[in-house]
Amino acid sequence: MTNPETSPVKLRPEIVALAAYRQGSPASDDAFKLSSNENPFEPIPAVIEALAASSAINRYPGSGLELRAAIATRFGVTVAEVHLGAGSVSILAQLIQAAAGVGDEVIYAWRSFEAYPGLVAVAGATSVPVPNTADERHDLGAMAAAITDRTRVVIVCTPNNPTSTIVTAEEFAAFMAVVPKDILVILDEAYVEFVTDETAVDGMALRGRYPNLVVLRTFSKAYGLAGLRIGYAVGPEHILDAARSTSIPLSVTEPAMRAALVSLEHEDELLERVARIGELRDQVWLALVDQGWSVPKPQGNFVWLATGSITEGAAEVFDRHGIVVRALLPDGLRVSIGEAQSVDKLLRASAEVVGNLPSALSKAGLD
Ligand SMILES: *Cc1c(COP(=O)(O)O)cnc(C)c1O
Repeated sequence: MTNPETSPVKLRPEIVALAAYRQGSPASDDAFKLSSNENPFEPIPAVIEALAASSAINRYPGSGLELRAAIATRFGVTVAEVHLGAGSVSILAQLIQAAAGVGDEVIYAWRSFEAYPGLVAVAGATSVPVPNTADERHDLGAMAAAITDRTRVVIVCTPNNPTSTIVTAEEFAAFMAVVPKDILVILDEAYVEFVTDETAVDGMALRGRYPNLVVLRTFSKAYGLAGLRIGYAVGPEHILDAARSTSIPLSVTEPAMRAALVSLEHEDELLERVARIGELRDQVWLALVDQGWSVPKPQGNFVWLATGSITEGAAEVFDRHGIVVRALLPDGLRVSIGEAQSVDKLLRASAEVVGNLPSALSKAGLD
């Protein structure tokens, strides 16, 4: 917080009120960092080679046409319907700024991605968080009912960070049928590659169908390029043009675009790792259910533990077992699926915590 005594500078109060973004805590040497949904695998050799070969860092980056063309070909859209950003979070910021200003409303599920409230506040707009259902899923009916004359954007996150639950294709179609066409719907699919539930919505299958839908994806999670900062949007050209107009020029770097391009060329190798993470996730989920946890079946590379009032203490238990998790007060812990060697420690910690859960949150309590 600013201290008016030491700093007389006038800042926007809604910005000063924001809690500064907290990175996942640094892990000590022998702890597993399962707090940021990162990919535990090291970059594939082809990516390392591409990075070594992109030497012209004395020059500004190019326009990314080659990568945009590769994405466009893959999904059967035009290059103009593809937009790159320094992480898909930066595209989210651009889209919100392009569509919503002071007095406008942005609807999203809650709990969902921690970045949403801040991005809306920075745009000067107003957040309208809509509580998840009891089984930790988006309540699309309530989200549609929350639309007013002031609504400019609705964000749908699937799989939802942090609850790891999906929106089905059917639910999404019913939702889009009632959302007015002049409201921008952003489908945030940062974890879509990890989804194994066949009923889940797939944004790319909907391309061209809605004039108000933009789909966001990223190379940070499944493709393991979080540190390079690159994501993309697919949607109607004039909406993406508006996003481009708000963007900070040249913020997507050439090494990031090279690495992304090579990753698409070597997708099979990367998706094989994604499948392994998915298998480990399912094993962890089964073990958690076995321990007595009530956990929605996860579809991202992370699981959600609804620890409620004991969240802080629960995070400390994990810490003690060498597992760094993301504590999202006052609701629960998000635990990424990381190295296979982390699983024993993770399950030892969860076994210790489950016994202390307030009864309303344990499976026994639900029965
Ligand atoms: C990680 C994440 C993103 C993408 O982050 P970038 O690294 O900026 O691409 C977007 N949305 C959600 C919900 C995420 O969890």
